[in-house]
Amino acid sequence: MSTFQAPKGTYDLTPPRSATFLAVREAISAPLRDSGYGYIETPGFENVELFARGVGESTDIVTKEMYTLTTKGGDQLALRPEGTASVLRAALEGNLHKAGNLPVKLWYSGSYYRYERPQAGRYRHFSQVGAEAIGTEDPVLDAELIILADQAYRSLGLRQFRILLNSLGDKECRPAYREALQTFLRDLDLDEETRRRIEINPLRVLDDKRADVQKQLTGAPKLRDHLCDACKTYHEEVRALLTAAGVAFEDDEKLVRGLDYYTRTTFEFVHHGLGSQSAVGGGGRYDGLSEMIGGPALPSVGWALGVDRTVLALEAEGVELDLPAPTSVYAVPLGEEARRVLFGVVTELRRAGVAADFAFGGRGLKGAMKSANRSGARYTLVAGERDLAEGVVQLKDMESGEQSAVPLAEAVAELTKRLG
Ligand code: ATP
Ligand code: MG
Repeated sequence: MSTFQAPKGTYDLTPPRSATFLAVREAISAPLRDSGYGYIETPGFENVELFARGVGESTDIVTKEMYTLTTKGGDQLALRPEGTASVLRAALEGNLHKAGNLPVKLWYSGSYYRYERPQAGRYRHFSQVGAEAIGTEDPVLDAELIILADQAYRSLGLRQFRILLNSLGDKECRPAYREALQTFLRDLDLDEETRRRIEINPLRVLDDKRADVQKQLTGAPKLRDHLCDACKTYHEEVRALLTAAGVAFEDDEKLVRGLDYYTRTTFEFVHHGLGSQSAVGGGGRYDGLSEMIGGPALPSVGWALGVDRTVLALEAEGVELDLPAPTSVYAVPLGEEARRVLFGVVTELRRAGVAADFAFGGRGLKGAMKSANRSGARYTLVAGERDLAEGVVQLKDMESGEQSAVPLAEAVAELTKRLG
């Protein structure tokens, strides 16, 4: 073991498991790429103020979980704890919303950082794939995003997830509800910090995971009874579109999410197999966020799916992704001359688009064949001095075990043909 270990709450992704992570990122982004979402990449850190204003001063993310730092130049930065604020900042800065084509549809994939108490499915460095549709208020857009996330999970083979759906109202109806809720909450037996939360963001008290708090919340005024007509109609439309698309969801009026910027549609994907860290992804509409960070009114909706927890969900369901073997041809040279010749063949194969690997380090036949097996290659090329003298290489089909001599000059063409 080396002197150094990965920092607390982080882990390394190494082969072969890392291949699953790549496949999950690919599977989540594929439906987005096919639906008009363009790729965006933003810095891993931002001005701390962006998150304070964008995510919300009273959220756990900002008060407890953010990695902040002061640069040598005196700038206050934070490692990004989430993607939406950065993406919206970048869209505004790049004037993407003025290019005349709304909504601006973007997808991203990257690392996020939260100083959390590490546990299964909860890390300090984790990875998300996300999508944002900026600048349009249209229930079809909310439905589109939920349908695409559902499609992504299904394409991976996940089945045991549920979609929780709620509406948080808007600036018309939420204030009255907020007050009604505050009045109710102030009478409860709650700790100091939660009492403070009642005054800053009472809806988030509904999200409290503690059983004793949840028990006291029965009988709390329901947002559903306070939604204005516009919000009700909007939400009914989203629900109808999901139903028409055959996407099953559950109404969950307690779903408020841990970020301040959400309005109207909010949703979460939860998975049975994950214990208490059951959320694999979530999102919603954030019609006020642009103005909160100094932009024009740009009603928007988005989601972020956690790659780490999606992989855990796959493992919990026992889903094995059908990943193609990384190597198709493995070359085993016996002797110096064969090393040069077979490495030439491997280079040619690679240039022809065939995934090929090589027994490095001049190992004996037995060890090299073991590596060939482990590589998952369909074919092995073996050549020794006698083969080269005859101008051939031995081509072994690793599935059938059959072996035949192939003229060296035809090896690449033969393999390309066989591998289709
Ligand atoms: P939770 O309620 O579990 O803390 P969250 O509401 O903070 O989740 P979001 O901010 O909505 O999570 O992030 C979207 C997704 O990113 C989550 O559903 C989850 O899959 C993933 N995620 C969030 N925080 C972490 C973390 N610390 N470690 C691993 N994955 C995470
Ligand atoms: Mg969290």
